[in-house]
Amino acid sequence: MSSAMNYQRLEKLGEGTYANVYRAQNRTTGEVVALKVIRIDPEEGTPSTAIREISLMKELRHPNIMSLIDVLHTDNKLMLVFEYMEKDLKKYMDAYGNQGALSPSEVKNFTRQLLSGISFCHENRVLHRDLKPQNLLINNRGELKLADFGLARSIGIPVNTFSNEVVTLWYRAPDVLLGSRAYNTSIDIWSVGCIMAEMATGRPLFAGSNNEDQLLKIFRLLGTPTEQTWPGISLLQEYKTTYPLYKSQDLNHLMPRFDPLGLDLLRRMLRLQPELRITGQDALQHAWFLTP
Ligand code: ADP
Ligand code: MG
Repeated sequence: MSSAMNYQRLEKLGEGTYANVYRAQNRTTGEVVALKVIRIDPEEGTPSTAIREISLMKELRHPNIMSLIDVLHTDNKLMLVFEYMEKDLKKYMDAYGNQGALSPSEVKNFTRQLLSGISFCHENRVLHRDLKPQNLLINNRGELKLADFGLARSIGIPVNTFSNEVVTLWYRAPDVLLGSRAYNTSIDIWSVGCIMAEMATGRPLFAGSNNEDQLLKIFRLLGTPTEQTWPGISLLQEYKTTYPLYKSQDLNHLMPRFDPLGLDLLRRMLRLQPELRITGQDALQHAWFLTP
């Protein structure tokens, strides 16, 4: 650990539930970094999410995962020093997209980088669990990196201890929405699919306002699952027999002119039944990535 005095704090980049993020400069080297300042409640000590983030990120070294440069500790604050990134994906789409939509080649490039980062996490038995545009950062070299591992957790522990209140609603997998707690790496792949579609259209794919609305928006596009199409679904806690029976829609209505190979991969990432969802490794081998 080095001293917090080494860094001059510049403007605020973002704020979250337990941390603020600032741009900052190392006084000695001149290096510009991002400082994630985590408030420590003197009663409770360091938030467990921060501890988790630190121990995970120190081990995960990959070009598509944000690197943790340093950890600084003062009496009532914990500061994580990260490499500085120009924009998160949300801000990037707002700034450079055509009404938010990115070009097909950019969608492919960012999807590939996102899959590389998440596959590396999964190989190391780490789930991200909160993939969304705000947690993906892009630097001025066009590199995309996964950030905000506050909710991540190593999968080495029994699955039934996971809470089912994790991934942000819009990017949350249907099995999680239906109350499944036995989820695994497939929950992140669902989020990747949602993010890929959002990059292509400029709009969130499923912008539900609550758990039930989120599920209905998903079913309206992908079809309402039944015990025939998803054996075991009726055992899930939140499953209802009263959902309207929607038929599955063609994804090219949503993304006309998008490469059919890209749509094929998207469909494989957005399978309702988690066991049928493509893995990160297999997604990277998909034919869509064989052409530039
Ligand atoms: P939280 O847990 O509060 O969501 P994040 O790590 O997601 O914290 O950071 C919040 C926001 O701060 C991000 O959405 C992004 O806009 C900005 N941010 C985070 N890390 C960096 C970084 N390394 N470089 C630039 N901006 C960052
Ligand atoms: Mg965040």
